[in-house]
Amino acid sequence: MEDCIFCKIAKKEIESNLVYEDDMVVAFRDLSPQAPEHVLIVPKKHIASINDFTKDDRELMGHIMTEVLPEVAKSLNIAEGGYRVVINTGEDAQQTVKHLHVHLLGGRKMTWPPG
Ligand code: AMP
Repeated sequence: MEDCIFCKIAKKEIESNLVYEDDMVVAFRDLSPQAPEHVLIVPKKHIASINDFTKDDRELMGHIMTEVLPEVAKSLNIAEGGYRVVINTGEDAQQTVKHLHVHLLGGRKMTWPPG
């Protein structure tokens, strides 16, 4: 996707503050952090949102949930204290970047429900 900012970050065409990378994903610090630790986990493959998942994405999402998130949380020292994982999807959730991304937020007490 030519105009996709997260595709460009994944391809290193735009700088980011990278905290993790493997063959399927990149993870980098959010430009506008909503918590002391705020990282976005982004598939290298362009998927617009959860609504666009296919069965082919099972391995990718399983990898993010079972391997990437716990590892990044541990590396940020928020695994024990706890953290929040968010995937904003579509207009009502105010998804602003149309390339699926998983927010990992931690380092402070979270409130519930979110606004
Ligand atoms: P969402 O509202 O779920 O679509 O979240 C998009 C997130 O991407 C926001 O938290 C933005 O601060 C963040 N963001 C947008 N552009 C960049 C960028 N170039 N580098 C890091 N984070 C970004």
